[in-house]
Order: sequence, then C-alpha cells, then structure tokens
Amino acid sequence: MGADEEKQLRLDNKKLSREIRRLRKDNELLRVANEQGMRTQAYIQRDNVRQIFYINQLLRTCPYLLLLLDDGLRTLMVSDVFFSYKGTENFDRGAVSRGIHLSRALSGIIGEDLLSELANNCAAVLSGVSVEPYLLRSVGNDGNSVWQVTIKQMVQDGKIIGLTVFFIDMTKFVDAVERAEAADQAKGNFLSNMSHEIRTPMNAISGMSEFIVRDSRDETAKHHAIMIKNASKTLLTIINDILDFSKIESGRMKLVEEAYQPASLFNDVMAIIETRLTDSPVKLVTDIDGKVPRVIYGDEVRMKQVLINLLGNAVKFTREGKITLRVRFEKIDEEYVSLKVDVEDTGIGIKKKDLENIFSSFTQVDTKKNRSVEGTGLGLAISRRLVNMMGGDISVASEYGIGSTFSFVVRCKVVDWSPMGDIGNHQGEVDEAFQATFKAPKASVLIVDDNEINLDVAEFALEPYEFSVRRADSGAAALDAFKARHFDIILMDHMMPVMDGVETMHKMREMPGGSDAVVIALTANTYSGAAAEYKAIGFDDFLSKPIDPQELDRILRKFLPEEMIK
Ligand code: ADP
Repeated sequence: MGADEEKQLRLDNKKLSREIRRLRKDNELLRVANEQGMRTQAYIQRDNVRQIFYINQLLRTCPYLLLLLDDGLRTLMVSDVFFSYKGTENFDRGAVSRGIHLSRALSGIIGEDLLSELANNCAAVLSGVSVEPYLLRSVGNDGNSVWQVTIKQMVQDGKIIGLTVFFIDMTKFVDAVERAEAADQAKGNFLSNMSHEIRTPMNAISGMSEFIVRDSRDETAKHHAIMIKNASKTLLTIINDILDFSKIESGRMKLVEEAYQPASLFNDVMAIIETRLTDSPVKLVTDIDGKVPRVIYGDEVRMKQVLINLLGNAVKFTREGKITLRVRFEKIDEEYVSLKVDVEDTGIGIKKKDLENIFSSFTQVDTKKNRSVEGTGLGLAISRRLVNMMGGDISVASEYGIGSTFSFVVRCKVVDWSPMGDIGNHQGEVDEAFQATFKAPKASVLIVDDNEINLDVAEFALEPYEFSVRRADSGAAALDAFKARHFDIILMDHMMPVMDGVETMHKMREMPGGSDAVVIALTANTYSGAAAEYKAIGFDDFLSKPIDPQELDRILRKFLPEEMIK
C-alpha cells in the first residue's frame, strides 16, 4: 500500500468514525424523542380518561335533565337525571348511547302534546334560528309539571352538528309563585270586600249625621253630629289609603288615562283644601302659570289624589302663615310637557334626619309634636308611587320650624296647547254643609237599594232638589217601577241580592225607553277607574257611597234636562 493510499484510508476511517458518532447521537436523540412521545401519548391517554371521567361526573351529578342530540335529534348523551325520570329498571342505558329519537326518549316525561312543539323548536335551532329559553307546561306521568327549556346549537368547524337541550324542573317554583299570587289576590279581594262592607254602614253614619246637621234645632246635637261626620270622613280616608296602598303593593294599581282640563282639576283641589282651612288663619295662595295647556292627557283622579295629599299635609302641619300651590310647565317636545308642582307651607317643617324616611310606608315623624295630628303614614308613600307611575318623581325640601316644600314633576301628553287661563286665588268662605245649587220639582228620580238606611240616606240627600222620588228595595221592584213610569234619573245600587244593579240595569236597557234612561251606578265599591268601568258596562255615570253632596249635585245637573232646572 502506498503512502497516499494509506493516508486516504485513514481519512476515510476518520470520516466514518465521525459519521458513526453522528448516527449514534441521532439515534440517542430519536430514542429520547421516542421515549418522550410514548410518555406524551400515555399522558394524553390518561388525560382523555380523565376528561371522560369528568364528563361522566358532570352527567351523573347534573341536577337538570340534559340531552345531547345529533342532527337527527337522536340521543348522544344524557344526564343521569334522565334515567331517574324514566325509571332505571325499565330503561336500557345502552339504547340511549346508541341513539334514540328525542320523542321516544322524552315520552312519559313530558306530555305527548308538547313533544311535537319541542321537536319543532329543536328543528328550528338546528336550522340556525335561535329560540329563547321558554316555559313548558306538561302533563306527564307524575301529573302536572313545568319545565324551563333551553335549546343550544352544538357547532364543530362552523357546522351545526347537533344540539344540547336543558330541562329545568320549575314545577315547585312556579307552584310557589302561583300560590303567592293567589294569596295576594285573596288578600286584595279581602281588602276590597272589607272596604265595601265598611263603606256601606259608613254611608248610613255620614248620611244620617248630615241629616242631623241640617235639620236639628238643638245646637249641641248639631255639634255632635258634625263631629260624627268629620270622624267618618277621616275613617273613609284611612280605608281608601289602605286599599290604595295594598293595590300598589300588589301591582294591581293601574292608571286610567283620559283627556282632562288641568284648570278644573286645580279649581276642584283648591275648593276642597279651602274647606279644610275654614277655621284656620292660614292662607291658601295659588301661583299657577296660566299658560299651562288647556287639555292634557293623564289620570286626573290620581293627580288629584297626590295634590290633595300634599296640600292636606300642608294644612295638617301649618298653624299660621300660608300654603302655596305653585304650578309651572316646560315644553319637552311637540307632544309632551313636564308639569312641575310645588306645595309650599310655613308649617312645622321636618328635621333633616327624618327627611329621607317620610316617603316610606307607615312612617310618621316627630310624633311627639304631631301626636294630635291624625294620619296613617301612607299618604306620601302612595303619592310617591303614583307620581312614579305617571313617569315622574317627588321630592321635599324643608327647614325645621320654618316650613316645607314638596315638589313633583310629571310628564304629560298635550291634547290642546291653548293656554288654560288664570286661576284666581280661592281664599274664601265655604259653608259647613254643601248647599244644593238648584231645584227641579218636575224631575222624577228612582232610587234602588236593598238597604233601608241607604234608601233613607239617598232620599235625604235628594230632598233639597224637591224631586218626586220613588224607592225600590230590589232589582225586581226597580223593574216594576220602571215599567210603570218614566224616571229622569235612576240611582242604582250595585251589590244587591238576587238581581244585582248591573243585571237590573241591563234588563232595564232592554225595556221600552230603557236605552235612553239615565242610570247612575251607586256603589260602595270604589276604586281607581271605577267610573270608567261602570260606564263601560252600560251605566251613564257613577256615584260612590257615602254620597258626596257636591258630587251628587254635579251629576244631577249633568243629566237632568236643562228646562227642568230652576
Ligand atoms: P300621614 O297620613 O301620617 O300624614 P304621610 O305619608 O302623608 O302620612 O306623611 C308622613 C309624615 O311626614 C307625617 O306624619 C309628618 O310627620 C311628615 N309630613 C308630611 N308632610 C309634612 C309637612 N307639610 N310638614 C311637616 N311634616 C310633614
């Protein structure tokens, strides 16, 4: 071998050794990688097992009925609750994982009639429509049940491949809510019945005391009768407050909105408040913007209630100085104005610490000082709720010993933008007993009531008008009287045994001359919107018991033919 050849061989040898070392290293790397790969695989396998375990745990413990469905609405997986609904013994677990149709899976759990609705909703969600969770009432094996159903898409690579469907059993919850609602309804009915029961004898008390005030020559008896009358009025206010409050609390208070003239509302309110200030040195002052729109839309009765509440409080808590009713308005847009009302007094004022409490129910503050002042502590709570319902808010500013200002703002729709005009200051004398504003000796009136005393009270209230009055003590007697002759006005009690006022009125309407007869509902069953409801069922108007002489006067004047009024 030549030297060159030997050198070459040595070089090759070196190369080979290097190659071998490199291959050995690669081999080692591969071995390590392989080992790592095997470890990863084992890890993934363990992880998969763990995931499956978790999913099983989830399905086992999930308190809701959960179904995973494929795009043919066949079961893929279900929560264990499913089997307890189905009854484990008679249901094959394997069948579920092999896939059974939704309708078969749920038959016996929810009623057959609702299964097709459910299948339709599932199909809708599969086609891409989203369906909000909904309540499903169903008659299943165990009687009535209520489910909340939530259907969601199962999406893979942007394709809807199936659904998850959750059923939450709401039976107990819905049952509890319904029971609570029924109890609330019963409470409401009880209160309204009770108020009716109390109003009926109250009608006799206030009517009869009015009788003594007017006709008695004995000054002491007169004085006592005035006290009875005032006490019965107070009692009525309290009953109304409690009834209103319970209505608001149970959400049954509804506004009855109609077009009305704010000028007449303010006039009415001022007249009422003036009667309360008759023996007081306190002056009632009005500062009302005459440019307030002439006709607005809203609940006049409730607006009046809030105003009388605030002004009534001002009267109660003011011994000297003045009470101011201030009304301003602001145009919101082409349709709405905001009406801002302030009731300002120079009364006892309210301590700072009490200010935030006075709008709470049954709250009276400073009771030591106000011991002699009557009230339920509901007035402001009711006022606040009513103002809130009218889309506004109420607030108070007060300085103890100086006076208070209650303010509220409500949003009103305008019916007629022309200005309502000035409302004068109404400070003046008001009589103790209301005087009839006219006489109509030619007019004839029929009073219908099953209660003897109520008939006396109504007849007595009608006396000053010199009508010819007939009485009927039942629906049947009223129909007989109506058949025999024409009456210009019929005052019809609502609650009567055998044939009530509504039925009697309807029967009258079918008799000759009945469609034109003026039938006024006379009832102790008063509530917000009563007038509108009585009109809607066919009465011409509505008078509440105890009869308010002023309101009676207004209604008689409204319905009697002009030529009869003297
Ligand atoms: P009440 O029927 O007792 O008057 P309200 O809810 O109307 O119930 O009023 C709650 C309390 O707020 C009153 O008892 C009184 O302490 C206080 N209050 C209300 N208005 C005035 C006012 N104008 N001046 C002083 N205190 C007032």
